[in-house]
Amino acid sequence: MNVQENVELAPLTTFKIGGSSRYFIDVQHIDDLGAALDYAQTRNVPYFILAGGSNTLVSDTGFEGVVIKISFSKRAIDTENKEITAEAGCSLMATIHGAASAGLSGMESMYGIPGSVGGAVRGNAGAFGTEVKDVLKSAIALNIETREMRTFSNKECRFSYRSSFFKRNPDWIILSATFTLQMEKEDGTALARASETLSMRNERQIQDIQSAGSFFLNPIVHKGLRTMFEDEKGVPARENRVPAGWLIEKAGFKGVCMSGACTGARSSNYVINDDTATAESVRALVARITDKVISDFGVELHPEVTQVGFSA
Ligand SMILES: Cc1cc2nc3c(=O)[nH]c(=O)nc-3n(C[C@H](O)[C@H](O)[C@H](O)COP(=O)(O)OP(=O)(O)OC[C@H]3O[C@@H](n4cnc5c(N)ncnc54)[C@H](O)[C@@H]3O)c2cc1C
Repeated sequence: MNVQENVELAPLTTFKIGGSSRYFIDVQHIDDLGAALDYAQTRNVPYFILAGGSNTLVSDTGFEGVVIKISFSKRAIDTENKEITAEAGCSLMATIHGAASAGLSGMESMYGIPGSVGGAVRGNAGAFGTEVKDVLKSAIALNIETREMRTFSNKECRFSYRSSFFKRNPDWIILSATFTLQMEKEDGTALARASETLSMRNERQIQDIQSAGSFFLNPIVHKGLRTMFEDEKGVPARENRVPAGWLIEKAGFKGVCMSGACTGARSSNYVINDDTATAESVRALVARITDKVISDFGVELHPEVTQVGFSA
């Protein structure tokens, strides 16, 4: 096992922000994960599981522990059973592309979501009407403490809006996931749909930017605010939530920059690093937004993005 020291984390995140990790282990094979965990546990140092780094903000001072990078990424397609199985470190995009290339359809509207399969399962990632929960058959996960390896059915993953059993129970690390799809009726339609999704994401400026995607979860709000949103936008508020971006925009924070951290000009819920932002400037902007949304609407926004290496 190769334990590196003082590894810069910024290049390993889509925010491109943050300091170094005291220790760093790149786990290329599932079988090596146990040894990486042993390294942290026997030395009693904290560890952090990092995969695609597309939903993570690293502190400017870095992380005084072991970053365990999930890089195992084998994939297998079973066209007979219309399934694709991917190890947790597989890129979600490559997995969707692989499935679509084999004529398996069902995940195309999630094409473009950066990051790994494990990260997507943990956060029940989704876009344009499809979430991981709609296509996942099962996931295999490892318990960090007991080292039990268990297969979770879709139901046992207890998916909800941007959450899952694994997000609520971080002592389980996702090792792999199997998705059940459909065979496309006409050749090439799944690939074409994936490419259309990507164009749409580019148009909406939610692709290939230095951010972690939506910074805040869409909050559950009272009926009055939901009605205001529905009247204004002409679309229903789903699961009693309104988009955080709508509230942020109304609070006057659309396209606002503070020390290199900016909210999106199109998507106010994106906090973007204009190349000069630090983790502190991101957090300062986030704090200003949070305060203003509370004072304007009485609604508390909660971050979706994992923050690592901060004292509070
Ligand atoms: C430009 C951009 C657009 C985005 N668009 C979308 C979108 O449309 N829809 C959407 O849902 N999200 C979107 N995101 C957010 C992000 O891509 C997803 O949350 C993604 O699923 C995170 O995966 P990751 O591998 O990058 O996670 P990381 O950032 O590496 O980790 C995130 C969290 O998951 C944990 N984790 C990672 N792997 C595992 C594992 N194997 N087992 C247990 N825990 C694990 C980490 O410890 C951390 O707490 C976007 C992000 C960006 C930058």
